[in-house]
Amino acid sequence: MEASRGPTEYRARGWWRDERLDDLVLRHASESPGRPAVLGPQPLTHARLAAAVDAVAARLQELGVRAPSPVLVQLPNSVGMLVLTLALIRAGCPPILAHPSLRSHELDPVVADLAPAAMAVPAAGEVFDHPAMARGLQERHPGLRTLLVDGAACAADEVALGGLLASSAAPERRVHAADPSETALYFLSSGTTGPPKPIPRSHEALGSVVRNAAAVSGLGPDSVYLAALPVTHSFTCAHPGVLGALASGGAVVLAESADIEHLVELVEEAGVTHTALVPPLVAQLLAHAPPAGPGGARVLQVGGARLDAETARRVPAEIGWRLQQVYGMSEGLLSFTRLDDPQEVVAGTQGRPVAPGDEILVVGEDGRPVDPGEQGELWTRGPSTVTAYAGRAAAEAGRFGPEGHYRTGDLVRVGEDGNIVVTGRLKDVVNRAGEKVPADDVEAVAARHPGVREVAVVGFPHPLYGEGVSAFVVPEEAGEERLTLRRLRRFLGEEGLAAYKFPDRLVLVEALPRIGIGKVDKAALRRAAEQEAPRFPAPSGEARPSDSTASEGAAAGT
Ligand code: AMP
Repeated sequence: MEASRGPTEYRARGWWRDERLDDLVLRHASESPGRPAVLGPQPLTHARLAAAVDAVAARLQELGVRAPSPVLVQLPNSVGMLVLTLALIRAGCPPILAHPSLRSHELDPVVADLAPAAMAVPAAGEVFDHPAMARGLQERHPGLRTLLVDGAACAADEVALGGLLASSAAPERRVHAADPSETALYFLSSGTTGPPKPIPRSHEALGSVVRNAAAVSGLGPDSVYLAALPVTHSFTCAHPGVLGALASGGAVVLAESADIEHLVELVEEAGVTHTALVPPLVAQLLAHAPPAGPGGARVLQVGGARLDAETARRVPAEIGWRLQQVYGMSEGLLSFTRLDDPQEVVAGTQGRPVAPGDEILVVGEDGRPVDPGEQGELWTRGPSTVTAYAGRAAAEAGRFGPEGHYRTGDLVRVGEDGNIVVTGRLKDVVNRAGEKVPADDVEAVAARHPGVREVAVVGFPHPLYGEGVSAFVVPEEAGEERLTLRRLRRFLGEEGLAAYKFPDRLVLVEALPRIGIGKVDKAALRRAAEQEAPRFPAPSGEARPSDSTASEGAAAGT
């Protein structure tokens, strides 16, 4: 195996450039200031966007939010979220991009690890009170001093994000604090085990990912990118996402929800040329988008979970969009089918790495590379991919191999043409509509329920989400009330677990199947979960997958 290359070589070869991410994304403010950058109810040109970013970066300093403190950004898509994120990058206060659906169970360890000085959240809503959760985090982590709230109703000790954004006066001095080798932002890993781990992305590494992804997507000054999924996710943010569209001189449209009728309206109204969806939303798009013949100009990027070949073929045939399959991860590696690939490659593979220098290795159970075309775990290293997590997880060497490879936990085959086909996964994760649910994380919280003696979580085929979360539970005999799916979900919510991880199905059993020295036989459980009724002995009268498929949240977007 070749020795690992490193940053010195990445810079020498021009893969990493001496450029800050905010400068890359906002460079069209001087090159083509009047071109639209944001479309929708609050439109902005590239020049106005850059001015707003400079103004907010200066205001943040006045508020005492200073480099190199990170700031937790837990906001849904909006112009304010985009401006704040870019301002934080510019100010050298790396935003930690956190999906609005995450709760204290997921965020507590992140705040403990990265010690952000501030947190931005939506105002209290009908479904959830983010400011109340943020105040809880502040109590447990006193370094989290400033609370930025997006909405009218702000308590006295909170800063209204709207007020911050309204200060458009040009600052006396541009805040420009970081070096390109420093962290520009943090994504949160979607997880293989436990709560999410912070992924530090430097200006130069993420800049190269954004440039490469934008180039293979065909983004340019006339492109209009619709952020249909949350911008807090790397796919919508930087793969190539809104950052790639802006860096190419194009415009972005920020969807507030992934409701398909809303998305189709935005596509028509704004003349969208590019968008990115997870597979469950593709099926919905096919049902709602106006039919058109093949040869259309719109590009539909699909990733986050495996798209089946039949649905893939229907995209150009039924709605006339060009399909681009994307396999990638917040840790870095990005693989795309190319826009000029033959139809069978686009429909049947997840493409090839987009960055020169990105190495992929397919490894068998013995830790050695498999023969070409054989299935194995994908390992990767190179200029796109991080070599460690931040915080406590940095010490967990498990996901990073001895030669500097990131072990994806994904099973793949790589054909002679170099195209990757994702065939399965080794990691114990349920991929629910593109959102990854680490089984051990749900099991650990569910096991605290007094009515649960033992619990094991596996995926099952779900008609809407691709995979649903199935909890097999051995109930506590002396439990005070019968365990139901509803009660279990309520309990998980009270324990601060994000709702997209809640089981869609509960199966009560007498015992969990075991192998070897007593490890739960997850393969047997997965086979059982595929069936309508469980196969294991169940307590009398309770042998059904009770309340099956309660749904919570939309595909990857809540
Ligand atoms: P995230 O970091 O949230 O983007 O998740 C990365 C993981 O999502 C990968 O390691 C895969 O397990 C899964 N994934 C992403 N894209 C695909 C795809 N096109 N097909 C199958 N799995 C995918």
